[in-house]
Amino acid sequence: MPRLEIRDLRRSFDGRAVVDGVSLKIMPGQVTCLLGPSGCGKSTTLRMIAGVEMQDSGEIYVDGRLICDTVTRVPPERREIGLMFQDFALFPHLSVEGNVAYGLRGSRAEKRARVEEMLGRVHMQRFIDMYPHQLSGGEQQRVALARALAPQPRIMLMDEPFSGLDNRLRDGIRDETLGILKEENTGVLLVTHEPDEAMRMADEIALMRDGRIVQQGAPYNVYTRPLDRASVAFFSDAN
Ligand code: ADP
Ligand code: MG
Repeated sequence: MPRLEIRDLRRSFDGRAVVDGVSLKIMPGQVTCLLGPSGCGKSTTLRMIAGVEMQDSGEIYVDGRLICDTVTRVPPERREIGLMFQDFALFPHLSVEGNVAYGLRGSRAEKRARVEEMLGRVHMQRFIDMYPHQLSGGEQQRVALARALAPQPRIMLMDEPFSGLDNRLRDGIRDETLGILKEENTGVLLVTHEPDEAMRMADEIALMRDGRIVQQGAPYNVYTRPLDRASVAFFSDAN
């Protein structure tokens, strides 16, 4: 069963269709990259799945459970969806422990155990009592990953989460993050406007343009068999 399924999702702003009938399925442990130029509707799609933006129509299912259509609306915190955004910073006034525990339920001891487990997963256990400003960018990113994974989301939505990182750190952190998500069998929807990133990270690429998915498939197939001139231009301009 897919971790995430969206059917015919639509959203207009001021009479303009920004997301114009997007459908997708993501299986457990699968990374799907939503790839397309700036303004094509990627973030709006993610925000609707997260539940922070309401769709005009269409359905969203997580592990087969309907979480949103025009009648049903499960609130964001109960969708079992994790979020990692570029500007989704750690809380500066909370320690690493406080950041990872944020949003967890249970007793103090249960939360502490879960925090230690998650920090272990990202090799950050010894930083548990530190504060964000004491950590490097890469370390902060790992804590952010631990925080996003701690509630055991079924799906991780990532909106260009690596673009703020130093080039030298980026590849390592990106591979490590997606490796952990795969091990946890989380489905991943990774938004990017960079073909190189999608080629490297995706099991499947969904190429988006003007609010629609125009082509979908394995990275190699999408890259070597572009649909039309606009796709060729997108792949070559971006490089
Ligand atoms: P992307 O993430 O692919 O760059 P977005 O989903 O952020 O694209 O935006 C798609 C289009 O929708 C843009 O033209 C943007 O200006 C517009 N848009 C997004 N959110 C709103 C909003 N709340 N009100 C009006 N227009 C919006
Ligand atoms: Mg965006």
